[in-house]
Amino acid sequence: MSDGSIHALPGTGEGVGYSHPLDPDRVDTRHGPILYLDDITVSFDGFKALNALSLTIERGELRCIIGPNGAGKTTMMDVITGKTRPDAGTAFFGQTFDLTRLPETEIARLGIGRKFQKPTVFESHTVFENLELAMKTDKRVRPTLFARLSSGQRELIARTLQTIRLAGSEHRLAGSLSHGQKQWLEIGMLLMQEPELILLDEPVAGMTDAETARTAELILELAGTHSVVVVEHDMDFVGKIARTVTVLHEGSVLAEGSMSAVQADERVIEVYLGR
Ligand code: ADP
Ligand code: MG
Repeated sequence: MSDGSIHALPGTGEGVGYSHPLDPDRVDTRHGPILYLDDITVSFDGFKALNALSLTIERGELRCIIGPNGAGKTTMMDVITGKTRPDAGTAFFGQTFDLTRLPETEIARLGIGRKFQKPTVFESHTVFENLELAMKTDKRVRPTLFARLSSGQRELIARTLQTIRLAGSEHRLAGSLSHGQKQWLEIGMLLMQEPELILLDEPVAGMTDAETARTAELILELAGTHSVVVVEHDMDFVGKIARTVTVLHEGSVLAEGSMSAVQADERVIEVYLGR
């Protein structure tokens, strides 16, 4: 891999390969972060849900975002995914993709995947079929179940089943899974799109302690090969996965640093953690 010529990354087949480093659709992080938000403001009828918010995420980073209800966490994800357009500010995915201008579908296609709080798996399909349906396909061809899968596509599904702790359960109906397993399946469906940046909004809400612990392991595995932004209220869980923690309050960054640093921050204790 060091002769400078063009190689496919291992483990992927035609149609499901990671985008090529010279591909203009590939996020360019050679000279900077994967996500750059600067001075973002979003107003709803004069109320500033985001107020001059600035945030930078490096490639491969795992970032936890905490903060009280109404702090703007979900709105921030809406801006990153193109669902909400900011009134002011800059938002870039890598050096070249302006998130304030690109359509939502294009942002998803370029490699930003988002998991909402409520799982939206297809209950009457199997785990395997759910992953298959979520696969990145040539959009000119209507996705169909049971179309012949390439070996690369099968391998991607097999790898994803391992990652989401559902290997061996691929023929179960999604509707029969526990709440936690449905959440993992939804993360798996995100992974089938091969995103570079993954946004998870309250991924352990409603999970058992055992499921929460396994989700922490899962997220730690995703970091490094992906950039991951996790919004979560469960502070035990955040403590397990945290590297850098950002505290949002009233639409801006109140504090940022290690878990212990933000936990010791007087302003954070005041507005969020309580005394
Ligand atoms: P968080 O996810 O941190 O709890 P949100 O981003 O959901 O906070 O909301 C931030 C603030 O913006 C809240 O006060 C919320 O009521 C308000 N808000 C969010 N979306 C809208 C909207 N579409 N219209 C009006 N107000 C909104
Ligand atoms: Mg929210």
